[in-house]
Amino acid sequence: MRFLVTNDDGILAHGMECLCAAAEPLGQVTVVAPDREQSATSHSLTLHHPLRPVRRGERKWQVDGTPTDCVMLAIEALMPERPDFVLSGINHGQNMGEDVLYSGTVAAAMEGLALGVPSIAVSFAGGDLRADVSQLREQVKVLTPLLKHLTSLPSFPADTLFNVNLPPVPADDVKGVKLTRLGRRAYSGSVAPMKDPWGRSIYWIGGGEISWTGEADSDFRAVQEGYVSVTPLHLDLTHYDALKGAERWWRSL
Ligand code: MN
Repeated sequence: MRFLVTNDDGILAHGMECLCAAAEPLGQVTVVAPDREQSATSHSLTLHHPLRPVRRGERKWQVDGTPTDCVMLAIEALMPERPDFVLSGINHGQNMGEDVLYSGTVAAAMEGLALGVPSIAVSFAGGDLRADVSQLREQVKVLTPLLKHLTSLPSFPADTLFNVNLPPVPADDVKGVKLTRLGRRAYSGSVAPMKDPWGRSIYWIGGGEISWTGEADSDFRAVQEGYVSVTPLHLDLTHYDALKGAERWWRSL
């Protein structure tokens, strides 16, 4: 089995090292990853300057681009054979609910899927990674059997990627794996007003309070309760219920 591993935290991130360690017992790993942090770059593509991959090992490249650039370059140019799976992560931080729309980690898996390769995004729902690096390392024990299961499904569901979130607990305390749907999260106070050194107003997006809502089978509930959350996602954003109800309002146009 051939894996393409990428991330949005950059090629030096601990999370990616852990994902490689989890995948290596299952097949051959090729890494093509951004040369620096690209978190929250979503599905952006670099069109206005060329990309220069730098070889960092036998099957390892760093790219001065986004996670989406990395997947596209890997599949269309760098890998001699197409990968069987794209694995993205392990992201330093959760990717649940609306996070999946901002996430570079999830976008890399989406790009794999768009190019016809089954893909899995993995995130670690820990807070302060400096404190949690040892817990992140331990997740390899949890992740290898999960990856083995997902990559040997009799048929990987079509047009689907799996979005995995690992709970921030020691591996032995993980209660199990739950199939979930996306919850909803609201940020408040996430735009911080500040002054620059010249006294002018500036704003820094980030931080703030996060609150979650969602049904019992939602991703954040599973993680909160100590389970690994696995959410199947697809790229079709069509709202089918709204389309069905459209007769009522469409005719009046
Ligand atoms: Mn990230």
